[in-house]
Amino acid sequence: MGGKHQVNAALRSLLLADHGEDALGTFEAGYSAIRPVTLRINSLKITAEEGKNALLKAGFSFEEVPWYSDALILKDVREEDLWHTELYTEGKIYLQSLSSMLPPLYLKPSEKESVLDMTAAPGGKTTELLALSDGKALITACERDKNRFQRLKFNLGRQGAGRVTAICTDTLLLDDAFAFDKILLDAPCSGSGTVTEGREARIDAAFVEKCAVLQEKLLKKALRLLKKGGELVYSTCSVLKRENEEVVKRGICSCRSRLEPVTPFEGIPHLPSMEGTLCIPPTDLFEGFFLAKIVKE
Ligand code: SAM
Repeated sequence: MGGKHQVNAALRSLLLADHGEDALGTFEAGYSAIRPVTLRINSLKITAEEGKNALLKAGFSFEEVPWYSDALILKDVREEDLWHTELYTEGKIYLQSLSSMLPPLYLKPSEKESVLDMTAAPGGKTTELLALSDGKALITACERDKNRFQRLKFNLGRQGAGRVTAICTDTLLLDDAFAFDKILLDAPCSGSGTVTEGREARIDAAFVEKCAVLQEKLLKKALRLLKKGGELVYSTCSVLKRENEEVVKRGICSCRSRLEPVTPFEGIPHLPSMEGTLCIPPTDLFEGFFLAKIVKE
């Protein structure tokens, strides 16, 4: 771990307003942490057992993750060390942070359910959603950025998720006549949970407000595209209330819907947040993250 990351004045005042003076040290330590490489074994291609055996055979050592049998924490490696392995090039593993594995786990899609991934690239959560349904959910993945869409298509192909319907479009333009059983909105955000040296420069109140306006539009759209009784997971890699709790409250007010409380799995650190939601601080294992689950009534 390097020296403690000193957050700049704009981000500092946002964090202070939301989480108080005592939490500031947690953020500074979390932003400086060098996290171990974590990965998800892609059960669309191999079983967890096969993945672990292949990693051991290739000389890697790892720890298991109590709340997800497909997830592993690698020891003493850099991501680059995996890039040339057959496991990686054949899409049998996907390098993914532990925090970002959570939204699909809380959405738990099953066979034949229609699922919309509204903001999908580069596609880690799309392929995880398909894997969790044993390859049987009917998934549509949207991404509006053309370059990122190419990345999504590439990853879907490599991970054996070719049956996902991928569309390069602004999700806000989808016809409201569509209706999905489940929706993942992993919204674009300020990234205040994943700050590293030099990457916080653009995070100030104006930028956060701009993100929140788009997030609110996307969430209201998601609620229109959700079937009655359908479930939606809203997530960001921000720890700021304006992008998280505030957006969720406004979304719920726009449509007959309610929060379905999310309980953190064992060992997942969390900050005080609106009841029923989960806000994870950046730590030496987790990126800062927020998650809420909404059911349409
Ligand atoms: N869920 C992705 C994953 O796990 O790999 C990460 C998604 S990233 C946080 C947000 C993505 O949303 C970006 O790729 C961005 O280009 C895309 N995006 C932003 N606004 C959008 C919109 N209106 N319609 C579709 N995609 C959008």
